[in-house]
Amino acid sequence: MDGKLIHCKGKRMLFVGLVCVDLLNYIEKFPQEDLGHRCFDLCWNRGGNASNSATVFSLLGGDVEFFGTLAKDRELSFIEEDFKKFGIKYDNSLVIPEKTCPFSVVILSQESHSRTVLHTNKNLPELTLDNFSNNINLRSSDYGWIHFEGRDNAYEITRMMTYVKNFNEENSAHIIISLEAEKIRLASYLDKFNMWTLPDVLFVSKDFAQNQGYTSMGEAATGYFEKVKEGAVVICAWGDSGAAAMSRQSGLVSSQAFPPDVIIDTCGAGDTFNAATLYAFCSNADLSKAIEFGCKVAGSKCGIQGFEELK
Ligand code: ADP
Repeated sequence: MDGKLIHCKGKRMLFVGLVCVDLLNYIEKFPQEDLGHRCFDLCWNRGGNASNSATVFSLLGGDVEFFGTLAKDRELSFIEEDFKKFGIKYDNSLVIPEKTCPFSVVILSQESHSRTVLHTNKNLPELTLDNFSNNINLRSSDYGWIHFEGRDNAYEITRMMTYVKNFNEENSAHIIISLEAEKIRLASYLDKFNMWTLPDVLFVSKDFAQNQGYTSMGEAATGYFEKVKEGAVVICAWGDSGAAAMSRQSGLVSSQAFPPDVIIDTCGAGDTFNAATLYAFCSNADLSKAIEFGCKVAGSKCGIQGFEELK
């Protein structure tokens, strides 16, 4: 993997996954059931893990594209304008008529710093391999790295990663594949479809690892390293403890977190960490420096609302 990095420098990063609308409600204290409450701030953001990571990657100065499904709904123009505002290419994405835009209502408690997400996706279909192979031209040689957000279309994601892997083998190409395992329910799919051995870089979240019995980031990075293919890298972010990673070349490495003076908004910290770590990789940083950069940018993000001021 480390030897392959040179091939992604200056090329486009493709984030494959969800875009939705996030309605962020900032409140002093987490609300009590069946009572009315006042929030002190509210904002609409373009959200979704892949979409957030694309934003951060672009703000850091990278060439970036988002690929996913978009509902032809009243929120479409908001999402499209926002992609344009952040210089994110999205025109290979599918706009699907008569579907409802996925929506997340996020409650951010100032007291506990908790982020409670209520997500609704009524009927927007997830991506399939057919969508990917018909819309993304790997031969264009634009793409250096493709990052997949692990979602419930795990079977189709497995097929998409396999498609990229086969393309690499048949064309002596070097498109790097990464996968994010953030949602707890993805664990069963990773086993079922043997997804462990497909990515060059596997990002595992704290929630995911804890749910599988890991109690520290180092233990998680080492444990998952046993499951991935030879030469692959495992990266595990662990909230305010920072992050750990493991590769054959570097062994186990870790970074502290870099907390801001005041925590304002941790929503999207993981997406920021992923994007900044990928950006550092694409700038030829080694694993230790890459996760340190990821933690620094994610820490800064926790001190601001949204992403825009990361500039
Ligand atoms: P997610 O947002 O997916 O739950 P994490 O909470 O693990 O992800 O955070 C990802 C990264 O963001 C961490 O590795 C860390 O660098 C940074 N981070 C998260 N919370 C804090 C915090 N309270 N202070 C400083 N950095 C943080």
